[in-house]
Amino acid sequence: MNANVLQTPIVYLKGVGPNRAETLQSELGIQTYQDLLNLFPNRYLDKTKYYKIAQLQRSNAEVQIVGKITNIKTIEQKKGKRLVATFVDDTGKMDLVWFRGQKWLRENLKINVPYVIFGKCNWYNGIFSMPHPEMELLSEHEKGLKIAMQPIYPSTEKLSAKGITNRAINKLMQQLFMDTKGKFSETFSTSILTELKLLPKAEAMFNIHFPKNLDLLAMAQFRLKFEELFYIQLQLLRKNMLRKQKIKGYCFDKVGTLFNKFYKHHLPFELTNAQKRVIKEIRADLGSNAQMNRLLQGDVGSGKTIVAVMTMLLAIDNGYQACLMAPTEILANQHYNGIKELLEGTGVSCALLTGSIKKSARRPIHEQLESGELQILIGTHALLEDKVQYQNLGLAIVDEQHRFGVAQRSKLWHKNEIPPHILVMTATPIPRTLAMSLYGDLDISVIDELPPGRKAIKTVHRYDANRLKVFRFIRDEIKKGRQIYIVYPLIQESEAMDYKDLMDGYESIARDFPLPEYQISIVHGQMKPADKDYEMARFVRGETQIMVATTVIEVGVNVPNASVMIIESAERFGLSQLHQLRGRVGRGADQSFCILMTGHKLSAEAKTRLETMVRTNDGFEIAEVDLRLRGPGDIMGTQQSGVLHLKIADIIKDNDILKTARYYAMQMLKIDPALEKPDNLLIRHAYSQLVKYKNIWNYIS
Ligand code: ADP
Ligand code: MG
Repeated sequence: MNANVLQTPIVYLKGVGPNRAETLQSELGIQTYQDLLNLFPNRYLDKTKYYKIAQLQRSNAEVQIVGKITNIKTIEQKKGKRLVATFVDDTGKMDLVWFRGQKWLRENLKINVPYVIFGKCNWYNGIFSMPHPEMELLSEHEKGLKIAMQPIYPSTEKLSAKGITNRAINKLMQQLFMDTKGKFSETFSTSILTELKLLPKAEAMFNIHFPKNLDLLAMAQFRLKFEELFYIQLQLLRKNMLRKQKIKGYCFDKVGTLFNKFYKHHLPFELTNAQKRVIKEIRADLGSNAQMNRLLQGDVGSGKTIVAVMTMLLAIDNGYQACLMAPTEILANQHYNGIKELLEGTGVSCALLTGSIKKSARRPIHEQLESGELQILIGTHALLEDKVQYQNLGLAIVDEQHRFGVAQRSKLWHKNEIPPHILVMTATPIPRTLAMSLYGDLDISVIDELPPGRKAIKTVHRYDANRLKVFRFIRDEIKKGRQIYIVYPLIQESEAMDYKDLMDGYESIARDFPLPEYQISIVHGQMKPADKDYEMARFVRGETQIMVATTVIEVGVNVPNASVMIIESAERFGLSQLHQLRGRVGRGADQSFCILMTGHKLSAEAKTRLETMVRTNDGFEIAEVDLRLRGPGDIMGTQQSGVLHLKIADIIKDNDILKTARYYAMQMLKIDPALEKPDNLLIRHAYSQLVKYKNIWNYIS
């Protein structure tokens, strides 16, 4: 079928007038024949079976019955009337009942003519009755397409109100198949079709809308899901390929003395296998002539910092400078101190630049940066100021990317003619399945292994009523020299209620943990940054034992001596946030604890979140549950991408198909990057149609 026919506006389809066209467009986004064709059923009803009235059970399953109407009557009820028909077959009788459309029905229903009816039965007054059955004359039913499973299409209230019922859509679909003779052009090469035993396109389309049997339906679903995911991956991978061709990068082809010396003499521990693998992946990028654009994912505490440091050494070995940007002053400080310690004795120069560094101290930093004397600059947004000019920035590392906009990130490299290599580090685990579809055009490295010897954090759920016991536990931990976080929800920093909760909580804690024995820090969003930093610093130095805070401490803070994380109103936090908060403890050698405090009333979803936290420490597993609970749109950082309105595939359930699709797309581009081989012409054509009409795949930004 000529693709252009499928671009025909839907208003031209027989059975669709201007009114229906408008409703189809506004409710389902259907503008063309193609859009209607790609309206895939949500589910199917089994219509292979016909029931006898005597076989009916008191269940709420939908049943299909052949019989005749023997009599119709109107029955008055308290409010209005109902229309009741007696329906019989050779085994018994039942009622059909209508509350709406009675006049039309009275005039049109035929007595003593065989009908096929379909619907749910009620058991009422000793007789089965079916309200508002779907019905069709047996003679029509036999003429119709023989389908085993009746498709149920997505619907909305407005659609049904306007009479565009499931049956109406089904009729339109039949019309569409008649008009086009069901000839839809193939979008895969013969080799893929044969290798994966895919149903041809036309057959798949037919069976998705009019399944002949269950096997064919399953094959049609597989083929169309594969197709959807394949073309998404093809597009993402091609974007990535083009980027690599277009954007030249500095070639760091030397693994020089600094890197080697550090590896041999300065590494404070043996790298985990995951760290080694990731460093290898980064090295391959840096030596490739193309700009690196890599996302480094690793759960909290997985050891991303050392990877950052070794990557920076590669830059310096090749004569370039490197910078590392963190989202907060506290984090920048921590990175600076940690990295300076790691680099001790290597002779590498390293400076810190944040908003609170005094003007007089900045000048020498600026100068040394421009002269090339300074090799590593660590800091906050302050790095983005115009005054910050490098001699030759070759690598920019961004920690915790979701706090920075893309625009800010690119500001870093607009200063260069050739962009520096970019490494974005994040502890927000994005499920691989999602990452693959979202960032197919970005390279991803994952540290999926924690350094050895870590004690898993023990997580428990406690009700508010047990608070005294929890306080006793805190006291014991403090006696052992440990420090405690107590975190309150502050979803919106301006919410007065939340603020009151925090202050009430603080007061009650201050009462139970009185001065001078106990010192308490408090940090929240309504404080001045300088005061926040001061309080934070006291806790970091161990001068206070308890830190009462809102989620401002969520990201990155490292106090290895803190061993207890108490999360108040834990039911109000999302899973990824809970996991981030828990990651603040478990950084030292001692057993750490996370206590989730809640009231007694919990929604089912909140229970799932709490149970998940108690069950596992694995950030990726948690992210998968989060994805399942909330859907991909809400996962951190994906909102803006407007992604993933998949037509038929399910990003989680169809993970295996996604992997296969990605593999095939990758193999194909490897052998035939421009899709020029005769065998790939169909794919190339389908691909260009997609790009042209932005059809199913228009959600890719
Ligand atoms: P994150 O990925 O959260 O940034 P860090 O880089 O801060 O993690 O590392 C967490 C802690 O683990 C640090 O104290 C670091 O020194 C330590 N660490 C990192 N890698 C290893 C390793 N391979 N073996 C032992 N300890 C490690
Ligand atoms: Mg970190």
